[in-house]
Formats: sequence, structure tokens, C-alpha cells
Amino acid sequence: MSEFGLIARLTARAGTRSDVALGIGDDAALLEVPAGEQLVACCDALNEGVHFLAGTEPADIGWKSLAVNLSDLAAMGARPAWALLSLSLPRADAGFVDGFMRGFSALADAAGIALVGGDTTSGPLSISVTALGFAPRGLALTRGGARPGDSVFVSGTLGDASAALERIRAGRAMEGAQARALAQRMRRPTPRLALGQALRGVASAAIDISDGLLADLGHIAERSRVDAEVFLGQLPYLPDGADPQLARQCQLAGGDDYELVFSAAPDKRTEIAALAAELDLALWRIGQIVAGSGEVRLLDADGQTVPVSDKGFDHFGHQEK
Ligand code: ADP
Ligand code: MG
Repeated sequence: MSEFGLIARLTARAGTRSDVALGIGDDAALLEVPAGEQLVACCDALNEGVHFLAGTEPADIGWKSLAVNLSDLAAMGARPAWALLSLSLPRADAGFVDGFMRGFSALADAAGIALVGGDTTSGPLSISVTALGFAPRGLALTRGGARPGDSVFVSGTLGDASAALERIRAGRAMEGAQARALAQRMRRPTPRLALGQALRGVASAAIDISDGLLADLGHIAERSRVDAEVFLGQLPYLPDGADPQLARQCQLAGGDDYELVFSAAPDKRTEIAALAAELDLALWRIGQIVAGSGEVRLLDADGQTVPVSDKGFDHFGHQEK
């Protein structure tokens, strides 16, 4: 199979949008950004052995490569529109490309985004996606707006993806409804796009959780020049685990959940409760912002600081993420 044959298989599932003036097939795409909006752009790569296990289903790789990028757009409060896909493949493997596109386009179609370009080369298996979207000028969510007195909220549940990974690493069976649900969270993360857009004008700061709750909340604390306090007793229920300590570690520091953690002023609490009902998505109030210089603290029921050993994975300190 030639490079052009592979590109043809990719573009067959690219999808269309009326704001794509010129899509795949030329040297670059021509895209219409709506008046009054800002273009929101992000890019994330996935490498075999680092971001997914060797032998992962191509469709799951396709889904996840887009999901991690849409999660970044969600955290900015952006509406996704377009994606570019850079693929490095060890072999011109049509089966891989077809499987990959099945997963990629399932999410792209659900999110209403079109694939408008990319690059296809040979090399170690690596996938890089650029996602583009819009936000009304000046209204995108950032990491920098948290203020003392704000509450901290998190969506969904935490630690499921890393609990699944730990189970697989420990050689435990992935059978039964609960294990399958955890595995699904790892294989097919759901970017919280509707939540992110609904949080414009509500949240003071937001980030998606890709490296673990404490690590990612730490980025809000640093950027906002405040401290964040997390109440251990108010976290969502623990992911399943044979070992409760490991489950707690997954919840606090496990990556790949792609939930949103955000801060909001106290007067937004009823609005946030209404949002949870409207979106049918749990939004937990897990902590508060206080004056400080970028620290995250975990507090027990008595308000005592709980020591934390590993605030999430550091890419250069760990072999795998
Ligand atoms: P060029 O040599 O000008 O960079 P290519 O031959 O690499 O063009 O690509 C031809 C067209 O196919 C371009 O429009 C490019 O954006 C698109 N394309 C190539 N690879 C991919 C891919 N993996 N996903 C989506 N579009 C792709
Ligand atoms: Mg060219």
C-alpha cells in the first residue's frame, strides 16, 4: 500500500463541515473562523509504550488520540471544529489505518468535527493530533483565574483509567461488569466538551485531568498564584481496587481520566448544581482556593494536612504514563 493509498483511506472518513472552505487534498486547509470568536488550538501526541500499551486495538488508539485533544479544548471552554492528524507508521498497514479511523471518526462524528489535513510518514508508531475550535472572544477558560474563596469542583469519577491499567499490569482478569467499566474508561475516555462550554462565565479557572488530580490542580494553583486545598472526605467514591491504598493513589495521582477540575466563586454553586443535573454528570465540590503561592494540600476531616508522596506522574521520572 502506498502513502497515497493510506491517505485515501484516511480521508474517506474525514467528515465535512460548512466552515471548511478547502479540506484534505491541497497543501493546506482553508478554514472559516466565525466573527467575534477566537481560534483555540492544541496538539498532543501519543507514542506506543508511553501513552498506550503495545497491542492496543487500533480503534482505541484512534479514539484516544482525538479524545485527549478534545479534552484540552473542553478545558478551555471551546467548541471543537477541526483536527489535523500526523501519523508515523512502522509499515503501510491498511488494516491499522482502517481500525484507527473507525475509532477516530466515531468520536469526531459525535463531536461534529472534520479532519482537514495531516501528514503520513514511516517510523515508529506515533500519532499526533492537532485540534482546533472556537471560543467567544475573551471568554475562554484558562488556568489562571482562581481566587481565594473559590470552591474547587471535579466532574465524573477519578482514577478509573489508572485503576484499569494497574489491574492489567498486575495480571488480574478484566472480567465482570466493574472491570469492564474501568477498562472502558481507559480505552475510550469521554472529553467533557458540553461541560467545558457550559462553564464559560461560571468557572474562574479550569484544566482537564491528564496527569492526575493533584498534579493538574497544581497547575491551576501555580498559574493563579493561589493555594488549593482538597478535602479527602469529599472526593468521589474510589475506583475499584483490590488494594484501597492503591485505589486512593489512582484517584489522587492517576492520569488519563480526562475529567475537568475547575474553580468557581461561591455564588456560582446553585448554577453548578443545575449544570450537573442538566448534563447528567456528577460535579463534586472537593475543595477550596486559599491565598498562597501555588501549593496543593490534601486535608483530612479534621483539617490536618495528609502527606502525599506522588502528585501524579512526571514524564521524565517515570518509564510509562
Ligand atoms: P504535502 O506533501 O504537500 O505535505 P501530502 O502528500 O503530505 O502533502 O498530503 C496530501 C494531502 O493529504 C494534504 O492535504 C494533507 O493534509 C493530507 N494528509 C496527509 N496525511 C494525512 C493524515 N494522516 N490525515 C489527514 N490528512 C492527511
Ligand atoms: Mg505541499
